[in-house]
Order: sequence, then C-alpha cells, then structure tokens
Amino acid sequence: MALKRDKYDIVFSQLVRERTDYECDYCGRHFRHEPSKLHCSHFKSRRHKATRYHPLNAFSHCAGCHRKLGEDPHEFNAHAVITYSEMTIDSVARLAGTAVKLKPWQMDDLYQHMKSELKRLQELRSEGVTGRIEFTLPDWYQHGITYQMGDI
Ligand SMILES: [Zn+2]
Repeated sequence: MALKRDKYDIVFSQLVRERTDYECDYCGRHFRHEPSKLHCSHFKSRRHKATRYHPLNAFSHCAGCHRKLGEDPHEFNAHAVITYSEMTIDSVARLAGTAVKLKPWQMDDLYQHMKSELKRLQELRSEGVTGRIEFTLPDWYQHGITYQMGDI
C-alpha cells in the first residue's frame, strides 16, 4: 500500500528532481517541462524513516523507469550501485534497517534544511547552472554517509 505523501515528502521530491535538473537518473530523459512525469524514487522504501529523506537513497525516475525498476529489484540495485557506489548503497541499506523515531524538532530541522537547500538549487538554476547539483541534509540525519567512491 502506498504511503501518504506529507509536506516533507513533497519538498524532498522537489529537491531530488531539482538535483538532476529534472533528468531521469536511469534513462536520461528531461522532464523540466513536465515535472509531474518525473518521480522521486526511493531505493529503500519510504517506510524506513532513517532513510526516507536521505539524499543517497533517492533518485529521479520517470514514470516508466520508476515502474520498471520497482518490478526489478536486481536491476534497481545494480543501477543504485552504479550511481552511488557499492559502499554507499551498503551504508544506506544498513541505515534503512535502523529504527528511528523522529521528534518534532527534528522534523522541523529537516524541513527547514530541505527548504533552504531547494532555494539554493533553484537560485543556481536561475543563474544558468545546469547538470547535477548535490544537496545535503543535516549531519545528524545523514549520519556522515556521503559518496564513498574510492579510487576511480
Ligand atoms: Zn526514465
């Protein structure tokens, strides 16, 4: 059953799609002019609070890719590893399994932080910046999980 989207999910979804400049992370098509066809897709389900708003647990996926990857966890896993690296995905998966209860002040902090990151990204877009722009959430939430790409 689908979880209801709240205001936190809505701003997070905007942030995730703005990050890729409204490009699907999987097929690379652009959706700036039809943003509702691009979804914020979670690797570990939104029911896991610890990773529900984690930048590295989320992707921009068009409706078609979202469905395809939802039906093919093996392919989703491979895609997540290619996008964020195996170590990162392992950390995210571990974090998803952690039970957390977010307090009201923490939800407020997340919300304010997401809003200000969204504003920052939108300002960069209005200045003509294209392509991917990373965003972060507060350290206490992100638990220090950032890219762990190792040597390339
Ligand atoms: Zn796609």
